[in-house]
Amino acid sequence: MILSNKSELMNILGGFDFKFSKTLGQNFLIDKNILDKIIEKSNINENTNVLEIGPGAGTLTRELCLWAKKVVAVEIDSSLVPVLNYVLNDFQNFTLINDDILKINLKDLIKEKFGNEKFTVAANLPYYITTPIIMNFFENDFNIDSMILMVQKEVADRIAAKPGTKDYGALTVGTGFYAKSEIICSAPPHCFFPQPKVSSVVIKLEKYEKPPYSVNDREMFFKVVKSIFSQRRKTLVNSLSGSPFISCDKNKIIEILGQMGLDEKIRGEKLDISQLAELSNRLFD
Ligand code: SAM
Repeated sequence: MILSNKSELMNILGGFDFKFSKTLGQNFLIDKNILDKIIEKSNINENTNVLEIGPGAGTLTRELCLWAKKVVAVEIDSSLVPVLNYVLNDFQNFTLINDDILKINLKDLIKEKFGNEKFTVAANLPYYITTPIIMNFFENDFNIDSMILMVQKEVADRIAAKPGTKDYGALTVGTGFYAKSEIICSAPPHCFFPQPKVSSVVIKLEKYEKPPYSVNDREMFFKVVKSIFSQRRKTLVNSLSGSPFISCDKNKIIEILGQMGLDEKIRGEKLDISQLAELSNRLFD
């Protein structure tokens, strides 16, 4: 069974009552080279647990099941359940959960399926869930080693952005704080069926064992980040002193910027992650 071949994929889907849903971002991968790259770069082996989000027709899932110890896949679309049960029938290491990844109790699921063992997240994500998924997995301190994700190119650009650029924002800081990112390959529209309008990129986020940035209070650090990037055209002083998420005194912010050797008119979007961490530590020590 080679699901990365379009005619074979369509043959299989034709045997079931399934219609592609745009709302659920159903563009299925039909490119074997990309599949191979995902497997090669994810370092998945017989000791790896994998949580796959949105298995679709099971193209990537079959490859994961061939290499990994255990694959648990969460798919929202119940019309894909019979397809996945058929496609993955040979694999004892596969479990399908028919649910919404944004609503399911992830903590319970992970504990039940993987216990205290580490796991890798693999997903070809619809645009609407990309940011909440990435941030949810990192912020909750799950025992992840890495995430290997197919995302829209603009999301990858935001993750890899440099301070002061238009793409630099809360997602850049959020991912950069927890993980080292690496672009694995690009995936133009013809690698999917049906073809999407936009290009995608496979990105690997490898969670730091020991984060390189030390913050006294992680919740306050992320409130500072949120305050800055939700009002990014303002100066840092104005975005923080007028923030609905934190309360801090204008003069104290000006004093701290001086101690950090930064101009009091600087915009927050110019600060890199270590400067944001230092600022937050000085504000909330
Ligand atoms: N992994 C498959 C592939 O690469 O061919 C399918 C990828 S397709 C871009 C996205 C998949 O995510 C679809 O199967 C869709 O039904 C599923 N999906 C969308 N929203 C979801 C959600 N909130 N929870 C779980 N699965 C979701």
